[in-house]
Amino acid sequence: SEQHLIRSEKLSVIGQLAAGVAHEIRNPLTALKGFTQLLHRRTTDQNRHYFDMMLTELERINYIVGEFMLLSKPHQWQQISSCDMSSLLDDIIPIMQSQAIITNVSISAEKSPDLPIVQCDANQIKQVLVNLMKNAIEAMPGGGELHVHMKKDHKGFLVIDIIDQGVGIPQHVIDRLGEPFYTTKDTGTGLGLTVCFKIIQSHGGTLSITSEPNIGTTATIRLPA
Ligand code: ADP
Ligand code: MG
Repeated sequence: SEQHLIRSEKLSVIGQLAAGVAHEIRNPLTALKGFTQLLHRRTTDQNRHYFDMMLTELERINYIVGEFMLLSKPHQWQQISSCDMSSLLDDIIPIMQSQAIITNVSISAEKSPDLPIVQCDANQIKQVLVNLMKNAIEAMPGGGELHVHMKKDHKGFLVIDIIDQGVGIPQHVIDRLGEPFYTTKDTGTGLGLTVCFKIIQSHGGTLSITSEPNIGTTATIRLPA
């Protein structure tokens, strides 16, 4: 309807503005980080933990800014190439394992031998997988198994299932998934899924999330081959 069109038009202007601002923040932020790191090394033992805190907070700004840049117009930053998704997953698993081990989460992967080659921005798809796997790990604070399954469906699409045995998602939260800044976590940004939906959409794919409280959650990515 007309109403809807006007609304999405407005959103995209705000989105463009957000990306522009995020981009402008990047450079001064890099300088701030560099000098803070320098002073961190030179400061007294007594003051060092203030610099630790400053670096942690700067890292958080950096992360949010990065998510914002992806958010508004992912295709503006996109570098499309033919991607071998199997090796892309092999790159990510060790990174996630270092986080998973802290809470006793084990990661397993299963890949069909006939995986299609996908035209995509490898860094953006990596970001999606990292965000979804991070959510899965965070949903299992008492440990569990995170399983990633890659296969080809009957239409030739690449399908990636990210399956956890975590706390699950109640219906009222499901309804709001993807909404910017919506989080149920104390230190969450609520940008992870917003970015995931945006990136997958801009690749012509779909992302769906199904969940059963106390049983677990499955996120499914479908990408055209
Ligand atoms: P954040 O992780 O910073 O909270 P996200 O956009 O990644 O932001 O996720 C939004 C919310 O969706 C989370 O706060 C959480 O409540 C819920 N969620 C996402 N993935 C899962 C999952 N695998 N299991 C349980 N809850 C999830
Ligand atoms: Mg998240």
